[in-house]
Amino acid sequence: MTQTADVVIIGSGIVGSSVAYHLAQAGCTNVLVIEREAHQGKGSTGKSMGGVRVQFSTPVNIQMSRYSIDFFSRFDDVVGHPADYRAHGYLFCATSESHLAYLQANRERQIALGVNNVEWVSPEEIQAIVPQLRTDDILGGTFCPTDGFVDPHSVMMGFMLNARERGARLWLDTQVTGIEVENDQIEGVLTTRGRVATRVVVNAAGAWAAGVARMAGADLPVEPLRRQLVPTEPFDQLPKRFPMVIDMSTGFHFRREGKGILLAWNDPAETPGFKTEFDSTFVEKILTHAASRVPVLAEAGVNPRRAWAGLYEMTPDHHAIIGPAPNVKGLYFVNGFSGHGVMHSPASGRIAAELILQGHSDLIDAGQLSVERFAQGKLLEETAIL
Ligand SMILES: Cc1cc2nc3c(=O)[nH]c(=O)nc-3n(C[C@H](O)[C@H](O)[C@H](O)COP(=O)(O)OP(=O)(O)OC[C@H]3O[C@@H](n4cnc5c(N)ncnc54)[C@H](O)[C@@H]3O)c2cc1C
Repeated sequence: MTQTADVVIIGSGIVGSSVAYHLAQAGCTNVLVIEREAHQGKGSTGKSMGGVRVQFSTPVNIQMSRYSIDFFSRFDDVVGHPADYRAHGYLFCATSESHLAYLQANRERQIALGVNNVEWVSPEEIQAIVPQLRTDDILGGTFCPTDGFVDPHSVMMGFMLNARERGARLWLDTQVTGIEVENDQIEGVLTTRGRVATRVVVNAAGAWAAGVARMAGADLPVEPLRRQLVPTEPFDQLPKRFPMVIDMSTGFHFRREGKGILLAWNDPAETPGFKTEFDSTFVEKILTHAASRVPVLAEAGVNPRRAWAGLYEMTPDHHAIIGPAPNVKGLYFVNGFSGHGVMHSPASGRIAAELILQGHSDLIDAGQLSVERFAQGKLLEETAIL
């Protein structure tokens, strides 16, 4: 028997869950979320570092972060489930005049958008925050105390549980295998559990989104790019609490994760593809950057079997694509977060729900995130990519 839904969301990661939550909040509860895995969080959401920051360079990313971080700070009360938001801050460390000019320009943009708590910090202040840092080449930096971390799995579950409490449905272990389009209008989706009749489909398929868009005959410039994280064994030679620290000279960044330290670095040699195996040669590369900036980290134990890899969902300008597909009525994209899908999940869920229900977003000018920007040459360039 054909099922029906007002909205079908493909993918139950943090983004699909947020869209379901925001639709249900607005009274649209005949929503069906379809997930091919047996559990939520098996895509990028479960691999994320959980970092949230307002320290971006483009207005749209700053606006989305500002809204989202405020949302995370109230998440437990508003959603009724924990987000584990920890306002430990993000500390950017500049080692060149061009880094300083870049942080200065970003800070001016942040202030213009009402973000007034990004502070300049001197090398001495940086040293005081993390005494083990080598600061001889650091010229200064910026620190925002409300940046920090959330638990992506908790946020995803919180959004979905709340949506389900309001009537949204979740089908696990069910793959979407086709999307029916008639006269340029969505009519239904085909799944391993049968057909679902619907006139609205939300593509929240993360790194797999381009394939899902193709099922409806739509083009979506989203590419998977492997990203690897390395946790250390318990390590007590760094403070118990400190911010996410970003070494701008290499892009190496790290934060505390329980008793150990979580190490991250964007390997420029990485090439696009669905690669989710951890490459053990990465350990030596990242430890070289780690020990160079934080010499005591040379003593940290690392078990490569505890390290992991996941996929960023990259767009050509490293900004999300949110909005209707131009040639398929009823198909909406919420994709291409380029590594920021956790931190921007509250804003993106709200924007997507508003576009579906009222045709425009009250939060931002959503036109700038439309997929049409690529054909129109209106790319948004974000340079603060971690
Ligand atoms: C190592 C790493 C570190 C990261 N660190 C951060 C960070 O610090 N801060 C931050 O904000 N972001 C970070 N990110 C990015 C963030 O994790 C992603 O942007 C975010 O999780 C995307 O969420 P999503 O719901 O769109 O995708 P996903 O979580 O990947 O969910 C998509 C879902 O769609 C399902 N699906 C796909 N195709 C189908 C189909 N045909 N039928 C049914 N289901 C389907 C998949 O199974 C999957 O569950 C990181 C990512 C990685 C890999």
